[in-house]
Amino acid sequence: MRCALPLQSDHAGPNHPPSRLCSHCIVAPPAFDATLALTHYAAPLDQLALALKFNAQLTIAAIFAERLARLVQQTYAHDKLSYPSLILPVPLSAGRLATRGYNQAWEIARPLARILQIPAQARWVKRVLDTPPQTQLSHLQARQRNMRGAFMAAMNTQQLASVRGQHIALVDDVMTSGATLAAVARILKNAGAARVTNWVALRTP
Ligand SMILES: [Zn+2]
Repeated sequence: MRCALPLQSDHAGPNHPPSRLCSHCIVAPPAFDATLALTHYAAPLDQLALALKFNAQLTIAAIFAERLARLVQQTYAHDKLSYPSLILPVPLSAGRLATRGYNQAWEIARPLARILQIPAQARWVKRVLDTPPQTQLSHLQARQRNMRGAFMAAMNTQQLASVRGQHIALVDDVMTSGATLAAVARILKNAGAARVTNWVALRTP
């Protein structure tokens, strides 16, 4: 329910209602409240994410956005939930944005926001530190330490007012440990957001 990790107990059968949280979310709840993911980060779809991130195949972002929009529409209708009031992408640092030329998370967030008719803002959270690639850090705690201080809020008073007490959707292409999304969610919660939901294309199982 919270981090979108598949749970063993999903297959427990009718006499054993599934636990809704993984052990990590029970012991150390992340700053985000829920996660929606299209599917696993695994072959062959991992190639789409790599092509989007490293080869500027931006049409893939539009496809992810369409699929995510459908998933959001179905899930929120089914659960009778109202949509978040704002969509934010996980930001890149200014340096990485300059090198790559685009933020793949924003390339997904922008068309997604248009389909769902929710406002989106690319620059309300800033990435101020480039951290070593997460894949070099094996333990979740190391990954979380690695993210500390990597992001900061960049909102004026008026912008803060549209975050305070609101439900915010945070968009990214790939969710691995969840440490990055949790760090951005922490910034938003500190700014007064009531609820943060991750909308990600692919999730490492
Ligand atoms: Zn979890």
